[in-house]
Amino acid sequence: MSISNGSGGTLLETPLIPTRAKKLHPESVEGERKILLAAPRGYCAGVDRAVIAVEKALERYGAPVYVRKQIVHNIHVVRQLEASGVIFVDELTEVPTGSNIVFSAHGVSPMVVAEAAERGLNAIDATCPLVTKVHREAIRFSGQDYHILLIGHEGHEEVEGTMGHAPDNTTLVNDPEEASRVNPPETENLIWLSQTTLSVDETMETVRRLRERFPHLKDPPSDDICYATQNRQVAIKKIARECDLVIVVGSPNSSNSVRLVEVALEYGAKASYRVDYASEIEQAWLVGVKTIGITSGASVPEVLIDHTLADLADAGFVTVEEIRTAEEDLQFSLPKELRKDANGEIDRSTLGGRNSS
Ligand code: SF4
Repeated sequence: MSISNGSGGTLLETPLIPTRAKKLHPESVEGERKILLAAPRGYCAGVDRAVIAVEKALERYGAPVYVRKQIVHNIHVVRQLEASGVIFVDELTEVPTGSNIVFSAHGVSPMVVAEAAERGLNAIDATCPLVTKVHREAIRFSGQDYHILLIGHEGHEEVEGTMGHAPDNTTLVNDPEEASRVNPPETENLIWLSQTTLSVDETMETVRRLRERFPHLKDPPSDDICYATQNRQVAIKKIARECDLVIVVGSPNSSNSVRLVEVALEYGAKASYRVDYASEIEQAWLVGVKTIGITSGASVPEVLIDHTLADLADAGFVTVEEIRTAEEDLQFSLPKELRKDANGEIDRSTLGGRNSS
């Protein structure tokens, strides 16, 4: 089969995708082999915007452009951008004064913004607007004397950024087990918020346990788990039971990708693995397998799915049926620092919109 370039940008054209040492081959199995391809999958609007923001910054300012942390949690995207002249750093102290720095889609705390200003950096904020929405909720409810129970994973950049907006009024709750033992300093004026990329089911279980202990716990005004995370979980739930194997394309530090493996197993897939690249698919996974479900996390370019389908075609999986459970057409305009061109006019080429599926 031919490999199509699903989403067209320069990012997908550089050949940094590892190839297999040995092609996959068909296992003997009775009946038709097929692939159920979940949709929506891959790039969300926030990732699309963040990657285009970095590409646009490179175009406008030239290399190097610095990015604090991985712009999005996908190793292929990071390698491609590094090849184009991006330098990823963990701390702003690594960035020379006067340089251009992009904040990642996961967001930053106000302390990071202040540090960038102190160091004389030209900051471009690629925080996903749906993460910014959670930041605003944290500021608002903290200002109203609520104590926030933030459901999220310790150490994740998004969680660090959100907690930084209300550091004195937030307690982190990692999972349902922690909900049963957490001791916030306030027990009446409590509200829960969450990381945007969690399992919907597990988060609701965490809330249920919190509410058992704190009956006055207030709900956030709207979902914090974003539309892209929810849509990808709904799509994999729909096909999981039919699948002998579900392959999730995504990086290990991509929270929503890791959740997709968990959700696939929870909803009936006989096995599920996460891979960064198709070359990581093992022949042994295909023994006795007739139906493979495939999906990808919200930071995964469609070209990695194309390669996955091509490798599995070598193993006899040539029938591909896309199962779509939602349409996505959300687009975010680029960070304000990049919206105008050198003449101060709105740059229409920067309005996002390169979603992959
Ligand atoms: S996964 Fe959701 S919150 Fe994260 S960048 Fe994408 S749209 Fe934004």
